[in-house]
Amino acid sequence: MTFKELHIDEPILKALEKKKYEIPTPIQEQAIPVALQKRDLLGIAQTGTGKTAAFAIPIIQLLNQPQPRGQKRQIQALILTPTRELAIQIDECFSDYSCYTSLRHTVIFGGVNQKPQVQQLQQGIDILIATPGRLLDLIAQKYITLEHIRYFVLDEADRMLDMGFIHDIRKLLPLLPRRRQTLFFSATMPLVIATLSKSILYKPVKVEVAPVSSVVDTIEQRLFYVEKPEKSKLLLSILEKEKRKAVLVFSRTKHGADRIARVLNRQGIGCEAIHGNKTQVARQRALTNFKSGKTRVIIATDIAARGIDIANLEMVINYDLPDVAETYVHRIGRTGRAGNTGTALTFCSQEEKIMIRDIQKLTGKKLKTISIPA
Ligand code: AMP
Repeated sequence: MTFKELHIDEPILKALEKKKYEIPTPIQEQAIPVALQKRDLLGIAQTGTGKTAAFAIPIIQLLNQPQPRGQKRQIQALILTPTRELAIQIDECFSDYSCYTSLRHTVIFGGVNQKPQVQQLQQGIDILIATPGRLLDLIAQKYITLEHIRYFVLDEADRMLDMGFIHDIRKLLPLLPRRRQTLFFSATMPLVIATLSKSILYKPVKVEVAPVSSVVDTIEQRLFYVEKPEKSKLLLSILEKEKRKAVLVFSRTKHGADRIARVLNRQGIGCEAIHGNKTQVARQRALTNFKSGKTRVIIATDIAARGIDIANLEMVINYDLPDVAETYVHRIGRTGRAGNTGTALTFCSQEEKIMIRDIQKLTGKKLKTISIPA
């Protein structure tokens, strides 16, 4: 499935291409068609699943109509999110995906002077990203009205509850027009959230994606503490030992991926690197070679690997650690699928150690450390 097949319009496709997003994530694949049909949505998905784009893309597409001349812009879409960090991130996503449209958006949150935010609002805004407290403040001061809202997103509803924002949300709801489309997202569905969702949504379509934190038990995870200059030697010795296995190696950077491929090829290990600097044809060829067993090792960056779907991949090696813990879970989830067992090996240097803590916290599992034979 491609973004084009999801009927995304050209200006957004162009923006996604610029971001090097090649294929939609599962939540995007399921949520975008529902949102474009103007149905209400109950999305059960965590951060890291691509849920921001899942609501931002359809909203941009639905709002991207020619603006009648001389008419003042009104806020037509409201995205409510619990924290300042999330609000800023979502705002950045809107900047990215709407860069080839003339839509205007801004973000408001508490803890800072309201003046610059008010100035932004006064220039006319189509899409507003807000945390609840500051939004209520600016509504009370008459800088904001919600009466023209057509699209309302409630993001991270369960976290809103944890942070004590439910009362604020209840205050905001009557200020929204009854005729509107609502997209409701939560990572979990405790009873209070389910009840809240029922009171907000009209005949919603429910879309659920597996939480990125779950690592299946069929994956054996191993951790090697190894400094950068020693990583290629370790990789070679593992590949020598595991001669028959099909292995996917993750590199954080494109150059890194090319470098690993050169080292392996020099040692006679058939492999290819796939990343964003390679043409689609080259990448497809590399995948075909790997799937047919012509090459047994493929080295990929995270973005390029999104398109890889290989049944029965036996081993994943994290040559570098990713920047976010969720990516680790995505990476290793490519092995141990469909009842098969798999192995995930991670190479960790001194400076990458901090990530291990995050990963263990996210997955709730302690990684087993393997000492390297001298
Ligand atoms: P989110 O769950 O919205 O916080 O997104 C998680 C990360 O995935 C963000 O860094 C996005 O930029 C990235 N992302 C979202 N959708 C895609 C996609 N279709 N392809 C590649 N990366 C994506």
